[in-house]
Amino acid sequence: MKARRLVLQATVMGFSANIATIKIGNPAKEHELKDYTDLVCPQDKKKPQFEMSKYRCTCGFSTTTWQGLLRVLKGTTTPLEMPTLTKGNSEAEIARIYKMTLEAFAKIADYVDPKDAERPVTAEDEASIVNLYKLIVAQAETNHIIILKWNDTKEQVIALLTTTQSGKIIVRKIIPPNLVVVGDSLMLDKSKMSDEDIEEAKQFLKQIPDATKDVLEVADYRIKQFQVHQPEEQKVTAISSIMEKARTRKDIVKETNKREIVVEVQTSKKKQKK
Ligand SMILES: [Zn+2]
Repeated sequence: MKARRLVLQATVMGFSANIATIKIGNPAKEHELKDYTDLVCPQDKKKPQFEMSKYRCTCGFSTTTWQGLLRVLKGTTTPLEMPTLTKGNSEAEIARIYKMTLEAFAKIADYVDPKDAERPVTAEDEASIVNLYKLIVAQAETNHIIILKWNDTKEQVIALLTTTQSGKIIVRKIIPPNLVVVGDSLMLDKSKMSDEDIEEAKQFLKQIPDATKDVLEVADYRIKQFQVHQPEEQKVTAISSIMEKARTRKDIVKETNKREIVVEVQTSKKKQKK
């Protein structure tokens, strides 16, 4: 996806109306290693040349991969230190969990624009699923966000526990405010919306046509030239079914009316899809 200008246009019964002109910007990005380090010859710390598929230094040193070079702080000969944060075994790492009000998060979200890095979340047992569900419901109902923080091999990861717009539970990595290169963005402050705004917005939405399945499909060179294999069926677990099971045992979750409504909505959505 490139940065470009787009005119949002709705076509209903042959008539086209321009709804808005928007600009797809570049995402805020994290400072990368190459922005603040150089790769140099490990012997005399000079910058090597890449010639004939090898990094070659004037001192005679050569290596075929960049891993054979020394990473130093940009413009210096000081080696970059990258201590390993994980224990290096296959045991699960601890991710600390936190919550923050949406209001407080919005104040730093100018900098902490979610990065283009989402990973689906699955759980290993039923109790975990029930607790994940509680966290997702609670943050929606109380205007909080849930933050996770864990150690990757060399770097710490800060991520939000959230859902995609289709309801899949994900962790979305965010850029730490102390590492950010800010990109342009528009912020929505939901607390400043009036009832009138919402009513006008609902009327406005009637001008937008309904999407059908083909709207979500591409018809560009990839489809015309590539043999596109449908992915193998992925395991998608509907939380509502697990919650139903947990609820009938009555030993995990205490009922509230609100929770009941959420589950009903999810169940009926699933039925519509089929
Ligand atoms: Zn050298």
